[in-house]
Amino acid sequence: MLSLMYLHRGLNKIVKNNLNGGISMARKFITSLTVLLVLLMVSSGTIYAATYLGYGWPSKTIPIKTYSYNDRWQIPMNAAVSSWNNAGAKIKFNKSSSSSNTITAAQYSYTDYGRNYATYSGKNLKSFRIELNSRTISADAKNFLNFVQSTFVHELGHSIWLADNPSTSSASIMKHSRNRNTMIKPQTFDINNVKAKY
Ligand SMILES: [Zn+2]
Repeated sequence: MLSLMYLHRGLNKIVKNNLNGGISMARKFITSLTVLLVLLMVSSGTIYAATYLGYGWPSKTIPIKTYSYNDRWQIPMNAAVSSWNNAGAKIKFNKSSSSSNTITAAQYSYTDYGRNYATYSGKNLKSFRIELNSRTISADAKNFLNFVQSTFVHELGHSIWLADNPSTSSASIMKHSRNRNTMIKPQTFDINNVKAKY
């Protein structure tokens, strides 16, 4: 709805700007623009999404509570943490037994592959809880290790400001349309966005 309101504001502005150039020109322009907008909205419901959430972890070092699973999970989960830490994004996820930022892989009834529940105050993320859904991941993964890593890298991204489905044609780990069997690291677009916040 927000994006729709924004679009309507844009159209009104175009109507005004085109009054000098003739109403019929403006009408034609707006008709074609409307068709284009409808096509865009049909082809992707996410094209107007923002890059950032309203909050993020306030410092470069982000503690996460130590987790322990069998290799099938532990290896890709550790690879996800390393892929952020080695991305050159300025930030570092740091495992700590005393952290309240928990990571859990379990069977959840919801259809998402992962969730990140955030507690924040103003722009400051205070704590978060990441869940990886073993039920849906196991059901849908073709490359299991990659799928787990892709999901966890994405969920970690939510703790460092990144929102779902940024409006860009660039590759992004935050896009729900990405191939989770093959995209397992933060992409250049993601890294640059995180760097801009830290
Ligand atoms: Zn997400």
